[in-house]
Amino acid sequence: MRVILWAMLCTFLAVTAQAQVAQLDPDASRIREGWIGGIEVTLGLSQPVPWRARVLADPPRLVLDFRNLDLGKVLPGHGRRITSIRQGTVRPGWSRMVLTLARPHIISSAEMRTGDGATVHVVLEGADEAEFAAAAARPEPPEWALPAVPPAPEVSGEGPLLVMLDPGHGGLDPGAEHGGLHEKVLTLAFANELRQVLLRDGTFRVALTREDDRFVPLETRLTLARQAGAGVFISIHADAVAEGEATGTTIYTLSDEATDRAARVLAEWHDREDIIAGVDLGGQDDSIARVLMDMARAETKPRTDRLAAALEVAVKSHRIVMHRHPRQAADFAVLKAPDMPSVLIELGFLSSQGDLAKLRDPAWRARMALAVRDGLLAWAAKDAVIRPGLRR
Ligand SMILES: [Zn+2]
Repeated sequence: MRVILWAMLCTFLAVTAQAQVAQLDPDASRIREGWIGGIEVTLGLSQPVPWRARVLADPPRLVLDFRNLDLGKVLPGHGRRITSIRQGTVRPGWSRMVLTLARPHIISSAEMRTGDGATVHVVLEGADEAEFAAAAARPEPPEWALPAVPPAPEVSGEGPLLVMLDPGHGGLDPGAEHGGLHEKVLTLAFANELRQVLLRDGTFRVALTREDDRFVPLETRLTLARQAGAGVFISIHADAVAEGEATGTTIYTLSDEATDRAARVLAEWHDREDIIAGVDLGGQDDSIARVLMDMARAETKPRTDRLAAALEVAVKSHRIVMHRHPRQAADFAVLKAPDMPSVLIELGFLSSQGDLAKLRDPAWRARMALAVRDGLLAWAAKDAVIRPGLRR
């Protein structure tokens, strides 16, 4: 009997106990693909914490959220029915484990046994499309929903133009990983370095879409930029690619049609990672809003193209090796702000040994930061002439 499709168990503890962060005990935890189609998740915790389990669609996945729990390393155990496991912070004080399922499953039981520590036990069983859709469609109770409008980002500096820096990935979305280096760590480090360089100049104010290792949905990154009144948006990445010999810096702008297959795969991967890691907030704009957005985009596009061109010139003038196609276009969700020039810089590729060494090198990153500053300065000067009223 499928009694509990959606199990939510909140163990409300004394305030003193809640302040302590519980630990996941990997030795007392296992994920098993059991008997006929079933999946069994057992997690040993050092103490009980509020938690919940639910399934979500597109792709089918089990999402486990915990309050004040340090999940530590990703558990082994994926195979035929679980195609990937990821975990990390989803917002301050909350961690999330996401198990991507090869086919639809629903929760047949979910419980936390307490005693010496606590044990979370979740059993999944195979379901047909209709059963799964019903379970996945249950609305998020308000107390569990990610805040739609996050707190305003902190803006530093005095300059006339606000630059929104967007360190790619974060929290339970680590991005690429090579040689022990996580993209989310690198992008945040570089964004902080670039902020210092930009602030020295006096032309810019600077804000970041995230200041620490947390998950920020792609749409929220745009909301933060708009909230802060950003004049330009720069997303920072250093991905890995499976095919080809991709090396060197690449500057991406938005286009419905990707420059090539690799660019399209990269954009799809980014957007899909975001959906898997978080709850798909799926902004549906009505047709009137879409027309207005298209008009704003048409006005913004030449400004974005000039920004990408200025950055390319600056990066080359700092003798930084660029990709053989230094400027590319793809359908990145994070570049879709209709009214704000937006670019995505792939600093390099973690999958390339040469690039990896450069990305680790503080001197190389300092040169890259100067290049981005120079590109922004050149663009902003020209943009202010072409578009009077920008500098108020
Ligand atoms: Zn990335």
